[in-house]
Amino acid sequence: MQIYNSMTNKKEEFVPISPGEIKMYACGPTVYNFIHVGNGRQIVAFDVIRRYLEYRGYNVKFVQNFTDVDDKIINRAKEEGITSEEVAKKYIEEYFTDAHGLGVRDATVHPKATETIGEIIEMVSILVEKGHAYEVNGDVYFRAHSYPQYGGLSKLPLEDLEAGARVDVNDIKESPADFALWKAAKPGEPYWESPWGKGRPGWHIECSAMSVKHLGKTIDIHGGGQDLTFPHHENEIAQSECANGCKFVNYWVHNGFLSVDNVKMSKSLGNFTLIRDAAAAYGYETLRMFLISAHYRSPLNYSEDSLIQAKAALDRLYTAKTNLEFLIKNGEDGSDNGKKELDVYRDKFIEAMDDDFNTADAIGALFEMVRKINTMTAEQPTKALAMACYDRLMELADILGILSAKAEEESLDEKVEAMIQARQEARKAKNFAEADRIRDELKAMNIILEDTPQGVKWKKA
Ligand code: AMP
Ligand code: ZN
Repeated sequence: MQIYNSMTNKKEEFVPISPGEIKMYACGPTVYNFIHVGNGRQIVAFDVIRRYLEYRGYNVKFVQNFTDVDDKIINRAKEEGITSEEVAKKYIEEYFTDAHGLGVRDATVHPKATETIGEIIEMVSILVEKGHAYEVNGDVYFRAHSYPQYGGLSKLPLEDLEAGARVDVNDIKESPADFALWKAAKPGEPYWESPWGKGRPGWHIECSAMSVKHLGKTIDIHGGGQDLTFPHHENEIAQSECANGCKFVNYWVHNGFLSVDNVKMSKSLGNFTLIRDAAAAYGYETLRMFLISAHYRSPLNYSEDSLIQAKAALDRLYTAKTNLEFLIKNGEDGSDNGKKELDVYRDKFIEAMDDDFNTADAIGALFEMVRKINTMTAEQPTKALAMACYDRLMELADILGILSAKAEEESLDEKVEAMIQARQEARKAKNFAEADRIRDELKAMNIILEDTPQGVKWKKA
């Protein structure tokens, strides 16, 4: 399996630290607002990566944090007249509503910064003791010059960073490239006691501390959106490697941006659509289908057209799934001959996913498989073949996290099937008025009926 490593800017053969086990960390959201479709791209990308690694037989320990103490949360709390904890709690719940809607599985651990303060203070203390950090007026800064590889991930050498920085005469830092590990408390802000007085952690240190706490000093995969490369991930590397004295991450994985009219979707530009609103318009699963339609590193543009396309693609897959379910119940007895012919599409799918998780090509293979399934089951409408096709379809769909039967869809299925049954019985009893009434009711529900040799089939208009 090949994974593109943003540290080397190359695809590399993936070799985990321990055979069969993967330690993976993705930077999670700062919980002060609902998440937008750009954030959704990141969480869905890592969910697919995790699902695929599990499909390939690895036991994946996946950590995704919540940044629950931060200036934006503190400002939000002031605006709403509630505490920072209340803001964080509310938006963590809202995060899970959207993540679950998108079919994103919970991480193995979702640690919070505020639950990791002891480990953060310990790490900062080690950095101070080793001379990699210094205290000024209750703040603690990382000394960028103490880590010669600084800039390795973002390919921004320290000299360039310093040359580009505006030097403020009041700056208390030794170098403009130094960054805060610990911030002295300002009045009215949440704080914790520390060897440097009352304060709170900087943003970057929390991921270093949570990663070592839950996964150990060296991990296989760490990632997030491309915008996190600098300064966040650059700083994480410097802190972790200086504190732990060993390599931090073997493969750096960064997803590309979701854009709107080719401009990155972001809160600060105001060009964002909340997942909540997009889901109300198109449905969560369509949104997921759209988000996986491109390779995770490619740019992806959010537009009405692409959502409509995603919906049409998903509908085609659901039609295939429903046809197979129908045949599994009503198909002929007979063999599942021909099922081996599907192997070629599964192999293609795996080949695409093995090539740096190329979901775009994998979806292509899935559609080829569906076309094959449709022709095979039309020629040989047996229960046994339908069952084999169904298993193969769902095996691949599950890696992408789509076609997962929704409770509401299932209850619709049951309701429609009961109505069809009642209509058949009314017809048998020559109660045509009742049969027509049921047909009209189904029509009003946008259900179209079709008589086939295997019985009545239905679909949504
Ligand atoms: P934030 O809430 O800005 O801290 O972002 C949380 C995660 O979403 C980070 O991993 C970001 O890199 C990612 N992210 C934010 N905006 C976008 C976007 N437009 N496209 C892709 N990923 C994004
Ligand atoms: Zn992080």
